[in-house]
Amino acid sequence: QTLRDRLTDPRPTISFEFMPPKTAADEERLWTTIRALEPLDPSFVSVTYGAGGSTRDHTIGVTEQIARETSLLPVAHLTAVDHSVTELSAIVARLADAGVTDLLALRGDPPGDVGGEWVKHPEGVEYASDLVELIVRGGDQSVGVAAFPYKHPRSESVESDTRWFVEKCHAGADYAITQMVFDAEDYLRLRDRVAAAGCDTPIIAGLMPVTTWGTVARSEQLSGAPFPPHLLSQYDAARDDPAALRALGITHAVELAQRLLDEGAPGLHFITMNFAKATREVLGQVSVPA
Ligand code: FAD
Repeated sequence: QTLRDRLTDPRPTISFEFMPPKTAADEERLWTTIRALEPLDPSFVSVTYGAGGSTRDHTIGVTEQIARETSLLPVAHLTAVDHSVTELSAIVARLADAGVTDLLALRGDPPGDVGGEWVKHPEGVEYASDLVELIVRGGDQSVGVAAFPYKHPRSESVESDTRWFVEKCHAGADYAITQMVFDAEDYLRLRDRVAAAGCDTPIIAGLMPVTTWGTVARSEQLSGAPFPPHLLSQYDAARDDPAALRALGITHAVELAQRLLDEGAPGLHFITMNFAKATREVLGQVSVPA
């Protein structure tokens, strides 16, 4: 069953995102996390694609290993950065051969420069929608795309962002996953404007429990927007008390997850940073429709 098939089921998906390991110690922690989250029976897990070099091979390797050695449905992220069409097609085919039936098609960012100018590989693709088409042409893997509640930083306006997002869905995407949100309203506004543009592609909400002040401080980089002002003062008050700040983060993540589910979000995608504890705590307190 691919994620495309799973999404025809009205029950919301619950999923976890991992990063490819860089060192042997990272790899050990990743697998401890995977094994700790596996009993929660997620609908899928995804592995992000590195900006370049060996982490990219690790993405492919870990995704293949999850397909081979666990009961989990892996989704391989793939970006167009520094890849020719021939290379992209070869990666897609290799993943298909390894039984990886699901891909998340992304344009990616230039290495080391999230806000910088995008430069297409001379024999590569320009937009994520081109990668969606390449994957759809290649076979029957299910394919997802990225969605940006606060618009993509390179988009001129929310309107153009919505228009190109809808085009990307129409290129053959089965679902989308959002950049992380800290406030359910931001997800709901995105969903409403996409629906108003005539697109019914399921949009899974990305979220990450705040467990340290660092997440609040890096909010703009992580989510694309400053931390929600109405929550910021509470975190600021707990800034020097790590246990209190973490407890607040878990409480907010539970409220956020529950609100998203109550509003009919088709899925919750937890960005785990390769740790299991916070995600387990949050899911332990959320009532997911059976
Ligand atoms: P696109 O959909 O191609 O959009 C890029 C920009 O071009 C947008 O401004 C869009 O509005 C515009 N646009 C699109 N089509 C057109 C068109 N035809 N004409 C004119 N303008 C157009 N990055 C990684 O490196 N690795 C990962 O694993 C990874 N995983 C991610 C997972 C999620 C859930 C999300 C939300 C993001 C992830 N990213 C990842 C980051 C992502 O690669 C970057 O944000 C990237 O800059 C945009 O990718 P995209 O696929 O949305 O690009």
